[in-house]
Amino acid sequence: MTREISELVDIQTVNESSFKPELLHDIRFGTVFTDHMLVADFKNGQWQKPKIMPYGPLAYEPSAKVFHYGQAIFEGMKAFKDNVGNVFLFRPRKNFERMNKSAERLAMPLIPEEYFMEGIKQLVALDRQWIPEGEGASLYIRPVYIATDNEIAASPSQSYRFMVILSPAQAYYRGEVKVKFETRYSRACPGGTGYAKAAGNYAAQFMPTEKAKKEGYQQVIWTDAVTHELVEESGTMNVFFRINDTLLTAPVNDQILNGVTRDSIIQLAKDNRIPIEVRKITVDELVEAAKAGNLKEIFGSGTAATVLPIKGLGWKNEFYELQPPVDSYADRLKKMLMDIQYNRTADPYGWRVPVI
Ligand SMILES: *Cc1c(COP(=O)(O)O)cnc(C)c1O
Repeated sequence: MTREISELVDIQTVNESSFKPELLHDIRFGTVFTDHMLVADFKNGQWQKPKIMPYGPLAYEPSAKVFHYGQAIFEGMKAFKDNVGNVFLFRPRKNFERMNKSAERLAMPLIPEEYFMEGIKQLVALDRQWIPEGEGASLYIRPVYIATDNEIAASPSQSYRFMVILSPAQAYYRGEVKVKFETRYSRACPGGTGYAKAAGNYAAQFMPTEKAKKEGYQQVIWTDAVTHELVEESGTMNVFFRINDTLLTAPVNDQILNGVTRDSIIQLAKDNRIPIEVRKITVDELVEAAKAGNLKEIFGSGTAATVLPIKGLGWKNEFYELQPPVDSYADRLKKMLMDIQYNRTADPYGWRVPVI
């Protein structure tokens, strides 16, 4: 066990790495974790020096606030290895900014920028042998931030823990994906926490999504909580629709998570002559377009899947199956994005951030 003292973080490494190359084959997403984690505590009104330490269980009392009131948020981002072994993060500052927006909404102290940016770089650099190579492979980075007071009064915690864990991931493959518009349950409401990556938002999605799975769908597309007429987003993805040659996606508001992948796709579409409109989209217009054969593509966008083509759409006991698209926007945009992520092309946007 070696201890290194860097200015920013104390590093305590594992005695023996649990890395085996076989661990990187056939991974089920989010089930394999690397040797180390980053941990920083907030107590007595102050952030304590972060530590990189062996990945392992935590001990908290049953009274810890996070268990009772869900004062917890998370992030999701990735590191990519290029074909000569350089490692890059993709737009990590966006995740940092969003994490602090979430923190603000959940009445949690803001995370210092260097803990997030430099802490993650040092952690990823230390565990870089865990990053799988090849098309679609990456290291999924999961920051998580929880309330740790041993107190069950329903008020914001005074102490907190910020952690980052790493999970090698292979290309995301789900087979054919069908979605339905959800018009009974809601994931977010005006004034609520939909724009935050708040843990409780996801727990609340599970039951409606499981019901949709029983009906043969893989995901739901949420509609606005008030009228159920406006399209919002999917489980952990923003959604894009192509009607004829125009790509559409909903504007972000406090019910829609501001996805980094969504933002990147909008930029790439604009710069590559793909007509795109960011505007309110109604369920009716999509159903009409589907009936008329003008709904050419649907795809989700998010860090885990990058771009996920969707085969068809359910609404009110009808299923509208899309024809395989000619000149697929999803394929083009996914390739452009991945070429930047894997350092196969120039990055005019400064999206790639080298890891030390
Ligand atoms: C994380 C997430 C997304 C996608 O965001 P990315 O930054 O692109 O990964 C979209 N919707 C929800 C609800 C999410 O939690």
